[in-house]
Amino acid sequence: MKLVSACLLGIKCAWSGDQRYKNQAALRLLEVTSLLPICPEQQGGLTTPRAAQEIQGGSGEDVLDGRCRIINRDGEDVTLAFIRGAEAVLSLAKQLEIKEFIGKAHSPSCGCGLIYDGSFTHQLVPGDGVTTALLKRNDIRVITEEEL
Ligand code: SF4
Repeated sequence: MKLVSACLLGIKCAWSGDQRYKNQAALRLLEVTSLLPICPEQQGGLTTPRAAQEIQGGSGEDVLDGRCRIINRDGEDVTLAFIRGAEAVLSLAKQLEIKEFIGKAHSPSCGCGLIYDGSFTHQLVPGDGVTTALLKRNDIRVITEEEL
C-alpha cells in the first residue's frame, strides 16, 4: 500500500475546495495497487476551502527546523497546522508500515523537489513540502504525480 495526496484522487481537499488536482495517472494506479488518500493540511486542522498558502523564504526542511514560516494569502501564519499535518501523516505511515508517498507536485505540504516560492505567482524554487520533508527524514520514499 502507498499513501497518496488525496486531491490527486479527486477528493475535494484542495485549498479551493474543488477537484483541480485530480490526476488520471494516479487514478489509473488504483487499478494495480492499493492507495490510501490523505490530506496533510486537513489533518493539521485547516478548513476546506481555505486561503492559499506558501512557504516563505525556505523549504519544508526549513519549516521543520524553525527557520521559516508558512503564510496564507490572508497574511495568517499556518505553520503549526502544516507541522501537525505532517506529523499525522508520518504517524499513519508508521502504524501501517507504509514506505511510499505519492505527493501533489509543488505543494507546500506534498511537493517534492520543487515548491512554490512564497510569492503566490506560481514561481518554483528547489525544495520539498513540509510533509514530504518529514517523511523523507523517516526513510519514506516520496515521488509526485509527475513521475507516474
Ligand atoms: S496537495 Fe496535499 S495538502 Fe494540498 S490539498 Fe492535496 S493532499 Fe491536501
